[in-house]
Amino acid sequence: MPTRKEFIKTATALSAVMSFEGLGAAMPSRNSRKPVVVSTWNFGIQANESAWNILKNGGYALDAVEAGVRIPEADPKITSVGYGGYPDRDGRVTLDACIMDENLNCGSVACLENIMHPSSVSRLVMEKTPHVMLVGEGAKKFATDQGFKEENLLTEEAEAEWKAWLKNSKYNPVPNWEKNHDTIGMLALDAQGRLCGLCTTSGQAWKMHGRVGDSPIIGAGLYVDGEVGAATCSGLGEEMIRIAAAHSVVEAMRAGTSPQKACEIVMKRLYRKRGDKLKNTQVAFLALDVQGRVGAFSLLQGFEYAQQNTDSQKLIKSGYLLT
Ligand code: ASP
Repeated sequence: MPTRKEFIKTATALSAVMSFEGLGAAMPSRNSRKPVVVSTWNFGIQANESAWNILKNGGYALDAVEAGVRIPEADPKITSVGYGGYPDRDGRVTLDACIMDENLNCGSVACLENIMHPSSVSRLVMEKTPHVMLVGEGAKKFATDQGFKEENLLTEEAEAEWKAWLKNSKYNPVPNWEKNHDTIGMLALDAQGRLCGLCTTSGQAWKMHGRVGDSPIIGAGLYVDGEVGAATCSGLGEEMIRIAAAHSVVEAMRAGTSPQKACEIVMKRLYRKRGDKLKNTQVAFLALDVQGRVGAFSLLQGFEYAQQNTDSQKLIKSGYLLT
């Protein structure tokens, strides 16, 4: 049996470790906050409205996230997702997306061309194939076999921007986040407590042809554990991949942290390991747990996310690490 003094010492040391790792914030709330949908950036407002139409009628979170992200995918004015997305350095619009449900079912497409809704194709990869991920020509062939129409996704505006870039064609792929949008990652918890997520993007503008970011990588751009929580990411995908960001955030929640603390822990870990290599790089995490609690955190100022529940629809600025 430890003495009282030893017990207090151990308890104090443990609480120091817990607070360092953010574990002190782990008190589960008894309040039910479902249904709820959250999504990255300001275009999440409109996307959430579409998802909400399903959630408010008792619908399935998986249907909600798909309906939600199809809005920015089809919007030619949004230059970081779907139709109208900026092309790679060869002038080709290549799209990445993945989807995950509450039971670890998942599907993904990467470097998909000429198909407006990679989100819906990723769902069919999940539902109709024995695989998780299809890429490039194989993904397109699967999509057209499933009845998706092939179309030109390069708008005049995106082509003009690409041609302007070609004048110098300095190889410096550009993140889209300065325009207040980038990848859309959406997480939804429905009235029955089912948690699902979807992440879709055209990736970095002027990237090398064939470059794949975090967005279609299960565990990097998106991860869902229906018993714990879900996380999605936006910003420079290479950084999310190296730290398995979405999965790391979910694992921090599994260890008992709140979604907010989980996002902060993983961001701090990334910064501690990468330091100056993250200069001028935006990295942002968004998390939702099975109780409907939300967290978000970014490396730099400027990340915002849209949240809709029965009370309100809000655009919320996240906290950030570097000032
Ligand atoms: N996270 C996305 C990607 O890396 C979007 C971006 O970086 O612009 O592909």
